[in-house]
Amino acid sequence: MSLIRSIDPATGEPVWEGAGAVAEEVSAALLRAREAFPGWAALPVETRIGAVQRFKAVLEARRDAMAETISRETGKPRWESLAELGSMIGKVDISIAAQAERAGEKRGAMPFGEAVLRHRPHGVMAVLGPFNFPGHLPNGHIVPALLAGNTVVFKPSEMTPATGEAMAGAWTEAGLPDGVFQIVQGARETGEALVSGDIDGLLFTGSAGAGAYFRRLFAERPHVILALELGGNNPLVAWDGDVGEAAAVVVQSAFVTTGQRCSCARRLIVPENSFGAELVEAVAALADRLTIGAWDDEPQPYIGPLTSAAAAATAAKQVAGLVERGARVIRPFEGIEGRSDAFVRPALLDVTGISVPDEEIFAPVLQVNRVPDVGAAMDAANNTRFGLSAGLISDDNALWQRFILESRAGVVNRNRPTTGAAGSMPFGGLGESGNHRPSAYYAADYCAYPVASFEAASA
Ligand code: NAD
Repeated sequence: MSLIRSIDPATGEPVWEGAGAVAEEVSAALLRAREAFPGWAALPVETRIGAVQRFKAVLEARRDAMAETISRETGKPRWESLAELGSMIGKVDISIAAQAERAGEKRGAMPFGEAVLRHRPHGVMAVLGPFNFPGHLPNGHIVPALLAGNTVVFKPSEMTPATGEAMAGAWTEAGLPDGVFQIVQGARETGEALVSGDIDGLLFTGSAGAGAYFRRLFAERPHVILALELGGNNPLVAWDGDVGEAAAVVVQSAFVTTGQRCSCARRLIVPENSFGAELVEAVAALADRLTIGAWDDEPQPYIGPLTSAAAAATAAKQVAGLVERGARVIRPFEGIEGRSDAFVRPALLDVTGISVPDEEIFAPVLQVNRVPDVGAAMDAANNTRFGLSAGLISDDNALWQRFILESRAGVVNRNRPTTGAAGSMPFGGLGESGNHRPSAYYAADYCAYPVASFEAASA
C-alpha cells in the first residue's frame, strides 16, 4: 500500500494524506460500477440530468471552499481556481444540452418503413485526471459519461487528492445510486490497476508519455473506448502588429498558470526584422513585471509557484539541456529568494539555429525562434510531433487564412492567447497531443455509441 500526500507548493504544508487504493480495492470498485451500470443506464435521461443538476448546485454552493482546495494543492492563485470552478459549472450545462440532444430516438421515413437512431452507453468508464485543472478537466469527462448512462470510477492526480475528495463529496450529496460514481485515490500503481481492469472506456487527460503507454496497452483491447487529451509543444507565430499588444498576448500564452496549461505557447516564432526584435524585448520586459505569489496573497498575484519543487527541478534540467545545446538565455529560469523551491521566474531563451528536443516543458519557459520568411515560420510551427494549440499574431488576413489551412493543431488562435478554449467548441489535439476525441460538447459523442435500427412497416 502506498501513501499519497498532497502538499501546498507555496508553503510545503501537507494538504491531504491517505492510502492509495491497492489492486483488490480497484477491482472491487470496478465490480460495483459494473453492477450499478444496467440500473443507471435504464433510468430516464431526465433522472440522470436531475442528479447532475444537483451536483452542479453543490458545486455552486461550495465554490469558495473548493477553489481554496484547488489552490492549496496546485498553487494557483485564488482568482484562477475560482475561474476553474466557473468553467466547471458552465460545462455542466453544456454537457446537459449535448446529452439532451442525443437522448431519445430520432426517426426517419425509409421506403420499407422507418430508420431509428438511438444512443447507448458503453458501460464502466475509468477517468484519470491531471493535476493542473483537477476539477474542471476530469469533470469534462465524468459529467458526459454519467449523463449518457455509464458508471464511472475516477482517480484524481496524486498531486490533487483533496480536490478529488471534494468532487466525490459533491456527487454523494447529489444522491447518485451506489456504485454509479466512485473515487479511488492513488498514484501510478492505482492508475495501472484501474486501466488494466474490467473497463469499457478510459477517459484520460494528462501527459503524452502516459498517453503513448495507453495507446500501446489498448491496442490489444480495441473494444475499449480511449479518449486521450495530452500535452503539446505549442507554437505562437508573432508576425506583425502592435508590439505592446503582441507582447501581452505572448506573455499570457506562455506564462499564465505558471506555464502549466496544456495549451500554453512553448515556442515563439518571430520574423528576423525590427518587429521580431522589439517584440522579444517587450516580452522580456513584461515577463519581469509579472506578479508571482502564494494563492492567498493580497493583492492576488498573476501566477503562483509550480505545482511542486520536483516540477521546478525537472524544468530546470530541461532548460539546462537547451543551454548546453547553445540556447542563448534572455531571461534565466531561476527561483525566487525567500520563497519555496517551487517558485520560479518566467524564462526566455533564444534557440534560433540550434536543434532542440521536441518536448513539452511544463513550466513558464518560452523558446524564441527567429525565421526569415512566412514559409519558414509555418515550417517551424509545424515542426513538432504534437498538435494541440497554435497561434498567430498578425493583422494580415491572407496570412491568417494560410495559417488556418496549414497549421497542424486542433485549436488555432488569432491575436489572442493560445490558451483559448470554449466549452461549446471542440478541444483536442492531433499527433501525440491526442486521438481526435475533442472534449467539451463533443464528449457526448464518445460517451455513448449510436445504434441504427431499421424497422419494416407493419403490414
Ligand atoms: P500525468 O500523465 O503525469 O498524470 C495524469 C493522470 O494519469 C494522473 O492521475 C496519474 O496518476 C495517471 N497516470 C500517469 N501515468 C500512468 C500510468 N502509466 N498508468 C495509469 N495511470 C497513470 O499528467 P499530469 O502531470 O498530471 O498533467 C500534466 C500533463 O497533462 C501535461 O502534459 C499537460 O499538457 C497535459 N494536459 C493535457 C490537457 C488536454 O486537454 N490536452 C489538459 C491538461 C493537461
